[in-house]
Amino acid sequence: MSRSVSTSVRRVIPLVVGWERLPRSYSIHGDRSGEILTEPVPAVLLDTDDGWTLIDTGINTALVRDRALYERLHGRNHAIVPILPDAEGEPLENALAGHGLVLGDIARIYLSHLHNDHAGGLRLFGPGVPVWVQRAELEYGLSDHPFPERHGMFRIDFDDPDIDWRLQDGDGELTPGVTAVLTPGHTPGHQSFVVDLPGGEGYVFAFDAGDLTENFDQEIAVGGFVHCEAEDTLAPIRMLKTIAAERGYRLIPGHDPKVWPALLEELAPGVAPLTPGPLR
Ligand SMILES: [Zn+2]
Repeated sequence: MSRSVSTSVRRVIPLVVGWERLPRSYSIHGDRSGEILTEPVPAVLLDTDDGWTLIDTGINTALVRDRALYERLHGRNHAIVPILPDAEGEPLENALAGHGLVLGDIARIYLSHLHNDHAGGLRLFGPGVPVWVQRAELEYGLSDHPFPERHGMFRIDFDDPDIDWRLQDGDGELTPGVTAVLTPGHTPGHQSFVVDLPGGEGYVFAFDAGDLTENFDQEIAVGGFVHCEAEDTLAPIRMLKTIAAERGYRLIPGHDPKVWPALLEELAPGVAPLTPGPLR
């Protein structure tokens, strides 16, 4: 069945702006393999009728490159090792440059959630760039001290009085062709995005509602969750599968090491992806 969609999205461009080394159990609840994965840090560019939209912003490089801040925020709190690209400067700027874009071309930002690998690039944007996030996510991120910092939500990334927040309450169309879907569990106000393209194709970007293909194919809970049980992360996983199946859209897991490089090659052919720098 073909549906007629009204969408402002002309093109989807996936980006990989960093990597993380982490136990597989962080993505796959109950995993006992002991395996350590290197997962990509994703972002998505949308070419829309009213300018460029960026979904998620990558890692705050200052908190990796500064030894003391690294130790306080990444070193002390969890077993995820951030990896920056092997180039000087800001990964997001470098990734945008691959598409002939600069930071100033970004008209608006949608955030899936406030974890440091998604909100860390907010500081690169001025107050003129509105930022959409779920109200529940921002309220959580600015409360419950110090628990958010202990699980990778770094207040310094997003507690900026000049950010022009646009707070979203639950599901809703953010702009024609981009629908936010509340998928709480991984964090209290996590959201995923359904993106419609002209011609009836589209994508469901799960982000951290499910890191890996296995989370969806085998309906396995995610390993990281806040103020709920692991099993509570299954409802969002199933809901996103249903949305994707009903619309015939591709469901893209948040950090899958195979899916993201393949998606870059498919949707941005000829653009050299960033490559990982050394492990600290
Ligand atoms: Zn996360």
